[in-house]
Amino acid sequence: MTPTVMPTYARAPLSFAKGKGSWLIDDQGQHYLDMGAGIAVNILGHAHPELVSVLNDQAEKLWHTSNLYNVPNQKKLADKLVDATFADTVFFTNSGTESMECAIKMARKYHYDNGMPERIKIIAFEGSFHGRSLGMISAAGSEKLTKGFGPLVPGFVQLPFGNHEALISEIDASTAAILIEPIQGEGGILPVPDQFLKGLRDLCDEHGILLIFDEVQCGVGRTGKLFAHEWAGIEPDIMAIAKGIGGGFPLGACLATEKAATGMTAGTHGSTYGGNPLATAVGIAVMDLVNTPDFLNNINTQASLFRQSLEGLIITHPKIFKSVRGSGLMIGLECVVPNIDVVNAGYDHQILTVPGGANVIRLLPALNISASELQEAIKRLSAVAAKIETSL
Ligand SMILES: *Cc1c(COP(=O)(O)O)cnc(C)c1O
Repeated sequence: MTPTVMPTYARAPLSFAKGKGSWLIDDQGQHYLDMGAGIAVNILGHAHPELVSVLNDQAEKLWHTSNLYNVPNQKKLADKLVDATFADTVFFTNSGTESMECAIKMARKYHYDNGMPERIKIIAFEGSFHGRSLGMISAAGSEKLTKGFGPLVPGFVQLPFGNHEALISEIDASTAAILIEPIQGEGGILPVPDQFLKGLRDLCDEHGILLIFDEVQCGVGRTGKLFAHEWAGIEPDIMAIAKGIGGGFPLGACLATEKAATGMTAGTHGSTYGGNPLATAVGIAVMDLVNTPDFLNNINTQASLFRQSLEGLIITHPKIFKSVRGSGLMIGLECVVPNIDVVNAGYDHQILTVPGGANVIRLLPALNISASELQEAIKRLSAVAAKIETSL
């Protein structure tokens, strides 16, 4: 019989009753160390007291008003995001996909309003992930996402990751924007070299093209800066965020410069729930907690120690692990054995990791995870590896 929950996920036989910090507790009271954080979502851990408190306070006052009226929390959060970034203006959504849809619509509208309606082509990259709407599977283009769902949305091309020559020959009079994740997440934690990002910025400036970053996974402190592109010292024209910004409450945003957003006038775009009072109350608290020098520096300190321990783990278990890559607490541990075997064996040792492309397991813990919890993760991963070794 068909499960009443549509089986679009291959779910692990686990269900959790509550969470605290970097721990999830199942219905039997068993504690799991959460190194996935809901795929880079619960950046302040589970049940963070300040987030719980702002959510409860707002819940008692007001849940929803239409975007026909001002939503004061939206304005507060937009001000914070604008203060902290390249952006001048923000559109709020409920998810990464919706933030990306806004980004693409905005890019096309920008050129349309500038008298160049032929500029519709979005250049994206192989191995990318931008969401599951028809538009965003068309943007990423991989068969794994698109098969059976055609016809796709026209106007997207995908180039090999990091190939500058291919990029130059693809740019023409119909190009509207270049779209890239500064670190590919689902693709297997593949960082784009700073030089390549800088090259993209130059090409976009030279050809009047907009540069769109998808920081849905790598943004909001994940890499030890508020946004991953800051490491490269360049800025996009448009940026999609989600995941971390709500700390576990559904919230996304599309950030843009004033220039890129000129076409987004009243009536051009919308969302019933986008930026609702509950989500934006939490978003404000997340920004206040994450966007401080101390919090961000601590991520870098923790991450470099953890990285060293992971290098050690690879040396001790060369039949299981091969290499480690990433930035800050966005880490891909490349496996020798199938990554899913490591993820599954993790369940038996009460550690949660997330599989990714290129045979990695992703380690995306809460950004306030403690040094001792990170060491506990190493211990458990080591036990996982030892277990798998006995069966090789
Ligand atoms: C998760 C993700 C998305 C899609 O976000 P949803 O909230 O699932 O719609 C888009 N882009 C990237 C890079 C992501 O990691």
